[in-house]
Amino acid sequence: MKDIKNIFEWNMGFQASIRPFLIAGNCAAETPTQLQTTALGVKKAGAQLFRAGIWKPRTRPNSFEGLGESALPWLIEAGQLAQLPTCTEIATPQHAEAALKAGVDVLWIGARTSVNPFAVQDIADCLAGTDTPVLVKNPVNPDLELWLGAIERLYNAGLRRIGAIHRGFSIYNKTKYRNEPLWEIAIELRRRLPQMTIINDPSHIAGHSDYLQEIAQIALDMGFDGLMLESHPNPSQAWSDAKQQIRPDELQLLINSLHNRESISQNHDFTLNLEQLRAEIDEFDFQILALLAKRMEIARQIGEFKQAHNVAILQMERWNSIYKSRRREAASLRVSGEFVAEVWNAIHKESIQQQSAILAQNKDLSGILTPK
Ligand code: PEP
Ligand code: MN
Repeated sequence: MKDIKNIFEWNMGFQASIRPFLIAGNCAAETPTQLQTTALGVKKAGAQLFRAGIWKPRTRPNSFEGLGESALPWLIEAGQLAQLPTCTEIATPQHAEAALKAGVDVLWIGARTSVNPFAVQDIADCLAGTDTPVLVKNPVNPDLELWLGAIERLYNAGLRRIGAIHRGFSIYNKTKYRNEPLWEIAIELRRRLPQMTIINDPSHIAGHSDYLQEIAQIALDMGFDGLMLESHPNPSQAWSDAKQQIRPDELQLLINSLHNRESISQNHDFTLNLEQLRAEIDEFDFQILALLAKRMEIARQIGEFKQAHNVAILQMERWNSIYKSRRREAASLRVSGEFVAEVWNAIHKESIQQQSAILAQNKDLSGILTPK
């Protein structure tokens, strides 16, 4: 998919010099005036694309599900008034057709739709041969392949003006955010499709206006291409996502507060220092790798030992003591306990896999799962 076009090659007049690339607007269209006030306000804040939801997939029935087709002309008029191209979420081929017919410039596929390959395929079939610009939100569950699959379906239908929106993931153990960013998934998408635009959506990650700024800054520091932010003239009265919307003047303050850090510096000393520090990191990484390899070698020897003596792989007592002692040591080394727990969980899992492979060579598996 190397010929997917970056957003600035979409021939829509977007300017790379206005940073960050900003998509802003209402969570949902409510009235013509609300859309017009927001469009004018977000334009002032630097938005280059105006958003508003017409169809709103909601988790529970009886919540506001969008006004539907009747609000499409309002979106177009608000865009024209503010001289901004428009975008909206579509979930079915019928939505796509209605939006394009009304003159919406860019479509996006929402998180609850990109999760469903049949739904995405129907949309892709409907758009085949049009080169409609489409942004694909990450699926609600943390699955990079599913996200890539949705992009691929549009690509296979001939579309080339494709981008992605990172809006965070539903996870079981929620933190303070509505959706967990899991930045590593968006970074991996960037690694796989480096030329494709990735927009971060702090509003749907945060779920609350208090956290928008910190998320937006991280997104810029990670080198993502732009932001999608929800704005409303009177957020507390919004018909949907009231807690996470901010007024257009607040949006302007937020955007002005962001630091646009350069991806490279022309400063010679900086470059030299950075290279030296990176060389040290490389060196340490290879040392870590060599140590891990040695550790796994010993784990395999233990596996053979256990096989010979018909002893189960998982020894809970031993694992508990490893886990606790490594975390304790970490505390005195300025390394966070959670990080160490995550690393040793991964190391332990790999050791168990390697030992299981050894025990599986012995067809008599009776000892493997016997608790001690
Ligand atoms: C939205 O952008 O208003 C929306 C519903 O987003 P998501 O699909 O990310 O939940
Ligand atoms: Mn919303």
